[in-house]
Amino acid sequence: MKNISLMGATGSIGTQTLDVIREHPEEFRLTAMSVGKNIDGARKMIQEFNPSVVSVQIEEDAIKLRNEVPPGVKVLFGEEGLVQVACHQDADILVNAVLGSVGLYPTLQAIEAGKTIAIANKETLVTAGHIVMEAAGKKGVPLLPVDSEHSAIFQALQGEKEKNIEKLIITASGGSFRDRTREELIGVTVEEALNHPNWSMGAKITVDSASMMNKGLEVIEARWLFDIPYDKIDVLQHRESIIHSMIQFHDTSVMAQLGTPDMRVPIQYALTYPDRLEREGKKRLNLAEIGNLHFEEMDFKRFRCLGLAYDAGRTGGSMTTVLNAANEAAVALFLENKISFLGIEDMIERALNEHEVIQNPDLETIREIDKKTRLTVSRWI
Ligand code: NDP
Ligand code: MG
Repeated sequence: MKNISLMGATGSIGTQTLDVIREHPEEFRLTAMSVGKNIDGARKMIQEFNPSVVSVQIEEDAIKLRNEVPPGVKVLFGEEGLVQVACHQDADILVNAVLGSVGLYPTLQAIEAGKTIAIANKETLVTAGHIVMEAAGKKGVPLLPVDSEHSAIFQALQGEKEKNIEKLIITASGGSFRDRTREELIGVTVEEALNHPNWSMGAKITVDSASMMNKGLEVIEARWLFDIPYDKIDVLQHRESIIHSMIQFHDTSVMAQLGTPDMRVPIQYALTYPDRLEREGKKRLNLAEIGNLHFEEMDFKRFRCLGLAYDAGRTGGSMTTVLNAANEAAVALFLENKISFLGIEDMIERALNEHEVIQNPDLETIREIDKKTRLTVSRWI
């Protein structure tokens, strides 16, 4: 039996993590969870999973919830609440499925507490990969990828040596706008951006997929998870999302991991690694039914965000903190209909251009830059 603490339980990854727990009650138990503002969702989860600790985003909701939950359930809020969930004494593994760099500090605390981390929350690695990886290395804490591309690479690496990698090939579905020209991206709506062809995900990552920033964030995530330089990370458009990523080795051999697009597979693998668990009755991959797989070069001109992410990654230091914070702020503005879709990349580029990079920033500097960048971007409208 593995005890799981889950940050971001009400999100797309969070609810699919609960599916995995629900499908294997004899293997997993939910000991602690956090939500943001979806208190109704939290109520149902508390009833079904009976965790000992629950954290919500704001105090007002915590007070409300405290009056309703069974006496054994502790209700907390804010960053301290997230930390308590992340570090829960009974937890064997933390699933970090919260959205955004708000996941950074609790992750570092969980590493300090010696918890194994299953990480979906890519913004944490983009904003402060050097700190997270160093802390995990020092503590000997495993960081298990949940993102499908990184799980694919991690699975293809089993039994292999990282030194034999020639390059990583991260696949990209292309997102909602993969068949549009640059001109056709002018004036696209939020609704259109949220209509992803292959995956059902949270709003922010769906917009990131449409702008190709998601792939940019994933390139940076891969750089940290697999300790590999940017010139050895390629991105390839693959519209079916069947090959989740590949490794090319020095001997020219290529290892790929395939599967139907279902996030419960990489979530479950992170929870069972190095073992695997039966997924009874679930759809198996049928390549004959799919027939053809397609691959295309990435278009760096049509989607500027991917190039911006590579550049920020190569510059390193605080530049990726700015990239992430500007993107989080700009995507939120787009989702509120306050800026256009192409306005997202304009804002990120401006934030990067105006930033003077600090190499090897410490946690405090990162938190300051993150806050300042969000504030600056929100003042531009
Ligand atoms: P969602 O938007 O669906 O869910 C985000 C979760 O985080 C919700 O539980 C939300 O709470 C909570 N949350 C948001 N902001 C805060 C905050 N300030 N404080 C506390 N909790 C907060 O996101 P996804 O599940 O799509 O994505 C989560 C992470 O996983 C992201 O980093 C994403 O990039 C990554 N990821 C997602 C994939 C997917 O398929 N969805 C695939 C690969 C990676 P509430 O809703 O209650 O307000
Ligand atoms: Mg992904």
